[in-house]
Amino acid sequence: MICVGIGRGRHRHMLAEHKHLVDNGVELVELRLDYIQGEVQVKRLLKDRPGPVIVTCRRKSDGGRWEHSEDARLRLLRTAIVEGADYVDLEDDVAAGVPRYGTTKRIVSHHDFQKTPADLTILHNKLAAMDADIVKVAAMANHPTDNLRMLQMIVASKVPTIGLCMGDIGVPTRILAGRCGAPLTYATFNDDRVLAPGQIGWRQMRDMYRYDSITPATRIYGVVADPVGHSLSPMVHNAALAAAGIDAVYIPFRVPAEQIDEFLTNASRWPLSGLSVTLPHKEAVLRHATVTDPLVTSIGAANTLTFTGDQVAAANTDATAAIESLAAALRSDDAAQNEEGLGVKTALVLGAGGAARAVAFGLKKRGVEVTVTSRTLDRAKAIAAEVGCKSVEWASRHRMPYDCIVNATPVGMHPNVDESPYDKEHLRPYMVVFDTVYNPENTLLIKEARGVGCRTVTGVDMFVRQAAIQFRIWHGQEPPLDVMRDALKRATASAKQPS
Ligand code: NAP
Repeated sequence: MICVGIGRGRHRHMLAEHKHLVDNGVELVELRLDYIQGEVQVKRLLKDRPGPVIVTCRRKSDGGRWEHSEDARLRLLRTAIVEGADYVDLEDDVAAGVPRYGTTKRIVSHHDFQKTPADLTILHNKLAAMDADIVKVAAMANHPTDNLRMLQMIVASKVPTIGLCMGDIGVPTRILAGRCGAPLTYATFNDDRVLAPGQIGWRQMRDMYRYDSITPATRIYGVVADPVGHSLSPMVHNAALAAAGIDAVYIPFRVPAEQIDEFLTNASRWPLSGLSVTLPHKEAVLRHATVTDPLVTSIGAANTLTFTGDQVAAANTDATAAIESLAAALRSDDAAQNEEGLGVKTALVLGAGGAARAVAFGLKKRGVEVTVTSRTLDRAKAIAAEVGCKSVEWASRHRMPYDCIVNATPVGMHPNVDESPYDKEHLRPYMVVFDTVYNPENTLLIKEARGVGCRTVTGVDMFVRQAAIQFRIWHGQEPPLDVMRDALKRATASAKQPS
């Protein structure tokens, strides 16, 4: 069950949000009394409540907003119990002093905003012994393994237990809590009004992650990155899984660079079925691959991992996706499959990062004469040496004409939508212009290229194709391309901090 936290300054707003949520099928809400400004009227909130509630009044030291006396806070919680609140949240240092009464169920909770405590079993036993109907532990995750310890605590407990890791690293516990047996997870009313670090909006939890249909049989996929909060892959993959009726969920895993080895060593403990891999892990994950496809070996980077028993298969779908996108734009789809020419003879790749390397390899493999240019010439030279192509200085990128221009830099990406990495006056109608940036889809470069009459390929096309190839690898069936494309477009339209 998803419990939606309501934190509003006025009683009438709290009541209105509660009604709205019940009208939308939400079964449980948490009324955060500490958010109310002025005198708190518990009876008013409970009297005509449209559905069950957890009553919580959190002190500042526990991450809340309560500024008044502890006596007044405890009086409110006791009043909530007397008034028949469905649940009341009692922190572990006060639970013993607030006796059980009537039908109100007791959630005995512990919060730690610094770390996930080392011995969760001892903590859990202590909380359970305080006449708890439900035990709740919410603790900051500093390491992906904290999530595993938290989920394990839920699995091992005999008392119903909510175990959540806070912060970006802890997001997987919020999505997987129910899979491990937790009676509920918490979500926010509004994505912008987060009541605890790492919380997810309830619509996202319900509609995108399909929290209520996640069971122990649900397979776990995800994207591993740092940062990961801006990744649009969860929207795209979860939409595809839902449309295809596949019992799997796709989760964002924030894993700092120095923790990737331990994270992958623990893959079977989640257990993970597959991962999209992005910055900064595309090269590091190769240390854990037991099977690598030839493209991964030549590029030296993977963006896809598949876990089967003890095997970890690494693939790179970026290069194939880039070439498929170009081939489709040139109306020579066969070329992508037949390893024949693409219909362009020369290409200039702007940038010398992971995307540039994948695109340069893919183009070279199709017989295109590739030149790489980058702000940092040494990086362009390094790619040129690996791929077996030319490099030119960034300042000289307009000197020679090319059949195809590929932007593999972030230039033009939101919010810098007025920038282009290639001057308009050097664009020619015979050119194919491919911008790997997907947010926005129609970058300034794409718009200017269309203005000149060039054929264009957008980053949305490439992004959807690389995700679609992953879908095929993982699920062995054709991906719902239109669903993925629509999900990406919706996500980019609403994204504030794109990658
Ligand atoms: P990366 O490894 O960080 O490389 C970025 C490259 O862009 C570097 O060569 C960097 O130059 C250059 N660069 C950055 N800012 C620049 C600027 N203001 N002017 C000129 N050059 C600049 O990143 P990546 O993984 O290759 O990704 C690059 C872009 O590709 C992303 O922003 C993303 O939009 C796109 N991408 C799209 C897809 C897709 O599926 N559509 C997939 C992957 C990536 P320096 O070396 O000098 O820093």
